[in-house]
Formats: sequence, C-alpha cells, structure tokens
Amino acid sequence: TFQDQELSAAELERTFIAIKPDGVQRGLIAEIIARFERKGYKLVAIKLVHPTKDFAEKHYDDLKARPFFNGLTDFLSSGPVVAMVWEGQGVIKYGRKMIGATAPLASEPGTIRGDFAIAVGRNIIHGSDGPETAKDEIALWFKPEELLTYKKETDKWLYE
Ligand code: GDP
Ligand code: MG
Repeated sequence: TFQDQELSAAELERTFIAIKPDGVQRGLIAEIIARFERKGYKLVAIKLVHPTKDFAEKHYDDLKARPFFNGLTDFLSSGPVVAMVWEGQGVIKYGRKMIGATAPLASEPGTIRGDFAIAVGRNIIHGSDGPETAKDEIALWFKPEELLTYKKETDKWLYE
C-alpha cells in the first residue's frame, strides 16, 4: 500500500561518492551533502578518512597507466576525504550528472564541479561511473556493516 510500500531494487541502487581533500579543505562538505540530500537520495554510509597512498592507488587502479596517476594518488592521500554511499533510483548515473564533467572547464554551471572547481586535478568530488565500479568502490571503502538499510518517512513522497 501507499503507507507501507517496500522499496524496489531500483530504489536501493547505491553509489560511492567521495569529497576529495580539496573539497574538504575548501569547506564544501555541507554544500555537497546538501545537494544529494535535497535531491532525495538517502545517505546509507559516511565517514571521514585519510587514505594512504597505497589505498589511493587501489581506488584509482584503472588509471595507473595515465601520466597523472602519481599526482592524482598523492593528492587523494594528502588529507581527509569524506567517503559516502548514497542510495536511490538511478543514483549512479544521476549522481554523475550532478557532479558534472571531469574537467571543470567542461562542467555545466549548476553541477558541483561547474559551480565550485576550476582545474581537472582539483575537481573536489568523486562518483562511481557505473554499477560495477559502484559495487567495487563501496566494497573497497566500507565494511558491509557500515552500510545501513533504513526507511525514511519521505520515501513514500519520493517514489510512486
Ligand atoms: P572522474 O570519474 O570524472 O572523476 O574522472 P576519471 O575517472 O577519468 O579520473 C579520475 C580523476 O583523475 C579525475 O576526477 C581528475 O581529478 C583526475 N584526472 C582525470 N584526467 C586528468 C588529467 O588529464 N589531468 C589531471 N591532472 N588529472 C586528471
Ligand atoms: Mg572515474
């Protein structure tokens, strides 16, 4: 029924989002969380982590052949990162839309990178780029028991 509907598998889709050290240093934690929260996505895990270089290399493993890999992993391990998992229908793809294009010069105004970043190497936020990477990144950053499943009263106002 309307009152006690179960969430569908699509609504339980999850993505890994991280506020990188530049976003933390620039005081953008609340701004970024607010955008995901106001959209209607559900926060199911969050922690402040200072990744090691080794951990940063694991996270960006797919980019290890790129010339910027060393600088990128030095940067990700340079300070605290806000690691989060957000849940909701279509959150992987739409989360990327909210984040904006990788290079801030190409990110549209209204996106997080478009509004708050200038350089590709200081683009303040990470988001999983597909269902497989979301699964892998969530497993890399979080233990299963750190992911909470819960109902919100607003779920029934967000989904039909
Ligand atoms: P994303 O998924 O949009 O974050 O982009 P990628 O997965 O392609 O790259 C990961 C991160 O590496 C990006 O967010 C950038 O911070 C950085 N990066 C990507 N391309 C470049 C580049 O050409 N130069 C530099 N310096 N950094 C880059
Ligand atoms: Mg990526």
